[in-house]
Amino acid sequence: MDNQLLLSLTEKYGSPLYVYNADKIISQYNRITEAFSSVKNLKLNYAVKANSNISVLKLFNKLSSGIDTVSIQEVQLGLEAGFYPENIIYTPNGVSLQEIEQVANLGVQINIDNISILEQFGHHYPNIPVCVRINPHIMAGGNHKISVGHIDSKFGISIHQVPHIKRVVENTKMHINGIHMHTGSDILDIDVFLAATEILFNTAKEFPQIDFIDFGSGFKVPYKEGDISTNIEELGEKLSKRFNTFCKEFGKDLTLMFEPGKFLVSEAGYFLTHVNVVKQTTSTVFASVDSGFNHLIRPMLYDSYHHIHNISNPNGRERYYSVVGYICETDTFGSNRRISEIREGDVLCFNNAGAYCYTMASNYNSRYRPAEVLLYNGNDYLIRKQETFNDLIKNQVIIDLD
Ligand SMILES: *Cc1c(COP(=O)(O)O)cnc(C)c1O
Repeated sequence: MDNQLLLSLTEKYGSPLYVYNADKIISQYNRITEAFSSVKNLKLNYAVKANSNISVLKLFNKLSSGIDTVSIQEVQLGLEAGFYPENIIYTPNGVSLQEIEQVANLGVQINIDNISILEQFGHHYPNIPVCVRINPHIMAGGNHKISVGHIDSKFGISIHQVPHIKRVVENTKMHINGIHMHTGSDILDIDVFLAATEILFNTAKEFPQIDFIDFGSGFKVPYKEGDISTNIEELGEKLSKRFNTFCKEFGKDLTLMFEPGKFLVSEAGYFLTHVNVVKQTTSTVFASVDSGFNHLIRPMLYDSYHHIHNISNPNGRERYYSVVGYICETDTFGSNRRISEIREGDVLCFNNAGAYCYTMASNYNSRYRPAEVLLYNGNDYLIRKQETFNDLIKNQVIIDLD
């Protein structure tokens, strides 16, 4: 990304600021579709929770992507962005039967991940097709909080309970049209992933009426130099071949689905902040920026690494810095980072800010959530304004204490 362009955007729109590069989103999308080009029916459902800005969703709609949603509100955002209900899949965890009914009534594909709701839903709506989320009990994922396929995970119906699912289907006469798994984020070992797919293929044989198999996501992207990332091309080659033979055995051209979030949007995003203060202590040089974990919580929540660079002084002499926020609690974005010399007023850029950054932002310390800009076709578009004081108070009911 061009530093001058990012600097000019902070001048135009202020800071802190999220910037998303549509070209990168498009090229990541195309990488997956090309890797799986030998599969007849491929469907990608972008996971909205990674970045739910309506203009970003519209970009995915334009690419013919579907969307994966985890709440009725994400479904509504998708409809607002122009998605047809049939291009939306709803994969909630632990939500009420009422919410599932509401989403089903919108015509959205339902994905159920527990037997209790499956049974109740089947009794009430035997004619609405349902996908089931299976937990294959494969340990995968970059850290425990985002690893959701293991044995004691709250996600999915255990592979050992497939006979129970079949009994529910028989009793209710409901129609299972798809099988799904999502084992967790940050899958690096393709063989581990392929082992999980074998479990899903075996399960699929138990449900001969299905139309699709959804392999979830977990594609890892690099966060720092030398990071390994999911080799989509290798995965595409191996899984496509296996999928195509499975379809022959199964006797039907099933649709292969994925629902990546991070892979599609993470690297497209940049978070831009101004340095308010440079503070030299006896041991550390702190660079305090005009943001904090209210805007980008991943380093604090997951210990995630976001590469930080000084775009105002890219060729300055490198020194070690701790980059911190302005929140009145420890909010360290990065410790002991080698960054070219930082002066007060410089603009620091955080990479990999497209996924799980804005969507996790809050108003903590009563700060405004920042603006978002989309770079598309050579133009910059403001796609969300920075909040104002009115946003902080609009839902407060101010009572008279006299
Ligand atoms: C979060 C989530 C995804 C996306 O995961 P990424 O790691 O961002 O690709 C996909 N499917 C489901 C069900 C999810 O909850």
